[in-house]
Amino acid sequence: MRKVKIHFPGASGTVTGSKFYLETPEVNVMVDCGMFQGLKELRKINWHPLPIEASEIDFVLLTHGHLDHTGYLPRLRKEGFNGEILGTIPTLAIAKIILMDSGKIQEEQAKAANEEGYSKHSPAEPFYTVEDAEKTFTLFKSCEKGQWISLSENLRVRFRYNGHIIGATYIELEIFEKLFVFSGDIGRVKDLLLSPPRPT
Ligand SMILES: [Zn+2]
Repeated sequence: MRKVKIHFPGASGTVTGSKFYLETPEVNVMVDCGMFQGLKELRKINWHPLPIEASEIDFVLLTHGHLDHTGYLPRLRKEGFNGEILGTIPTLAIAKIILMDSGKIQEEQAKAANEEGYSKHSPAEPFYTVEDAEKTFTLFKSCEKGQWISLSENLRVRFRYNGHIIGATYIELEIFEKLFVFSGDIGRVKDLLLSPPRPT
């Protein structure tokens, strides 16, 4: 029997840190790779070891560029992920800006904590740096929305416009002819700038 195991290492019990992980007989796929944000108790989860072997992930698929869907990518690469990160052209462009900014903020926060001595850690380390973020971009691979893309013999993915922000999509993942849908953050039906989400 062909089995697909789905794990929910993020965005369960809370809305940030979005991460879904699918182990399939052919390839292993993570959908979104976000950072936990908000209360300190949530932000601390970012430092917990990921309950997944990063080197065993073949693909990361991004619904959109927001930090709570992309912010863990530099850590994932540092933990051994070396597969492809797929998303639409605008999603990857937004993710680059957001991850560079995030790396800079984390460097600055660690520096301030060390200078002012308010961290329990000595020295306080940034969660990741601008350089870590830049190294992640080498794994980015842009995809046309609305087209099926093969990930392996019996897995294919399609990015479908969902109107949340520029380039945002929901993701259809077909695994051995069964369809799995990941909504991402859904946009409005009526918006001044963005088109309404596309129906399946
Ligand atoms: Zn969002």
